[in-house]
Amino acid sequence: MPKNNGSEIILKGIGGSPGICIGKAYLVDSEGVKVVPKYYIADSAIENEINRFKAAVKKSNDEIKEIIDNTPEEYRQRTQILETHTILMKDKMLYGRILDTIGNERVNAEWALKKTVAYVKPMFESMTDSYLRERADDIVQISERIMKNLMGAEQIDIGKIDKRVILVAHDLSPAETSQIQLERIKGFVTDRGGKDSHTAIIARSLAIPAVLGLAKATTVIRNDDIIIVDGTTGTVVVNPTEKTLMSAEERRSRYETYKADIARQSHLPACTLDEHRLPVLGNIELPEEVVSVIDNGGEGIGLVRTEFLYLSRRNFPGEEELLERLKDIIEVMPHQPVTIRTLDINGDKIVSYTGDRNELNPALGLRAIRYCLRKPDVFKTQLRAILRAGTYGDVRVMFPMISGLEEVRQAKAQLAEAAASLESDGLAHQRNMPVGVMLEVPSAVMAADHIAEEVDFFSIGTNDLIQYSLAIDRGNCRVAHLYQPLHPAILRMLKQICDVTRAADIKVAMCGEMAGDPFYVPLLLGLGIDELSMNPPSIPAVKSMIRAVALEDCKALAHDVFQLKTAAEINLLVKERFGAVLAQHLYSDIPDTGNANRPEGNG
Ligand code: PEP
Ligand code: MG
Repeated sequence: MPKNNGSEIILKGIGGSPGICIGKAYLVDSEGVKVVPKYYIADSAIENEINRFKAAVKKSNDEIKEIIDNTPEEYRQRTQILETHTILMKDKMLYGRILDTIGNERVNAEWALKKTVAYVKPMFESMTDSYLRERADDIVQISERIMKNLMGAEQIDIGKIDKRVILVAHDLSPAETSQIQLERIKGFVTDRGGKDSHTAIIARSLAIPAVLGLAKATTVIRNDDIIIVDGTTGTVVVNPTEKTLMSAEERRSRYETYKADIARQSHLPACTLDEHRLPVLGNIELPEEVVSVIDNGGEGIGLVRTEFLYLSRRNFPGEEELLERLKDIIEVMPHQPVTIRTLDINGDKIVSYTGDRNELNPALGLRAIRYCLRKPDVFKTQLRAILRAGTYGDVRVMFPMISGLEEVRQAKAQLAEAAASLESDGLAHQRNMPVGVMLEVPSAVMAADHIAEEVDFFSIGTNDLIQYSLAIDRGNCRVAHLYQPLHPAILRMLKQICDVTRAADIKVAMCGEMAGDPFYVPLLLGLGIDELSMNPPSIPAVKSMIRAVALEDCKALAHDVFQLKTAAEINLLVKERFGAVLAQHLYSDIPDTGNANRPEGNG
């Protein structure tokens, strides 16, 4: 690990969101990377150390009690797990053993905590009783909370940061990232995360530079260090020299010019050189972003990630509140399509008040449509709100994480039930709302011909489709190099989807991040995707790329890639055929042309 002695250090990570920013570092939480210190203490200091540990436990206990007290009465049973935490905190195996370790071994409290957890956790994990076995996770959570209080790392409310800074964090959850105040935060860097993690997606929507997957950023960078974040190349420079600063400033201004250039035409429809029109829409997480879709020339909204209406709050939103928030979006775009995706929580978007237990494998767990079908009351509230919102514009509804036909039928049955209940309540709602599904689970792609009989459109979620097909956690930087949109298996799936939709005469959109990268535009055009939807700041570049190519050439590319056997070969072919255009339309003049963002065969 490079030592930070004030001289220039270059850190290489994953470009999460393009652009360059320069500013002071602001470390928000180094929990998890801070090396737990080990030191011996004098006999005379033991009592003090024990008191320090007890104070950290008390603080942790108070924090948990506050969460429980602030939970509304009707959700109280969901705080049971936290009650368990307060009891476990005083458990003899944990609490008693830590006190003994401090006294007997004369070590600091942090080390005693770490050592005890390492001993106790496997004991719980190997228990035959499943209830006790599951407590192993609780032990880890409790110990992390106590450790944070011992080491003094503050849990910071990102929404309240009031300086112009660059955030440096071990990890930022999608909910935390969505709290970022644009006028204050210039950009951010994290130790964890992958290019198509939800955290990166939000950074791109906010149009702030971000570098993820740096592994050691929080241990190398110190508060107030000057850093340069280049989200295009995935590079962070700590303590830059005068010369490096000047060159970064120059590149920043060239990037701004590039953005201004592509923005000029972005309000016009995008047609290829041979007059093929491809609609380009925006994805949004929060109602406020609809303005950014319009500003960037989006022709509608291809994906509303409604789960963000459920995050960062204490309880489920009710029907009226959801309706108001959806109306906020639709009323700004009454004549253009708005595709509302039903709730996609769990996975990496945990909603704390659901009271659901931590899952060992959340990406494969009770996520999205699976969660909604299990919780008909939550689902019905949302479906009623969406159907009512439909009267204000051109609304479609779409179900996420569909894995097969039965789920589609069940979801449609719930939609019909919601419509019937609105009918009997005498509430206005959209009848015959178009229904679509996201194709993002390989089994759904393989069964797409059956599913196509049940729906009006498909939307391909490449972020998850790649994750689930290649078995690559999209948020894990250690396998980020294996996350390959151009993997022949992915391209075969895309082709299969396009063939099925043509035969079934339904439309296919793409709303995964692959749609928002100009590099893939020729291939997606050639395969026959009907509509692209992306984070709003990507719209101008994608439109610009569409205008620079001929559909005929794109079709030839989409034919020829299937002769090739690796992502690296396919990547080369795209560059060979469209390199000149890509050089003008990507991060054009910027040196190191964004290869951290391009899949060079392996990532
Ligand atoms: C996807 O998986 O590609 C997608 C658009 O959905 P999300 O990123 O919200 O999982
Ligand atoms: Mg998805």
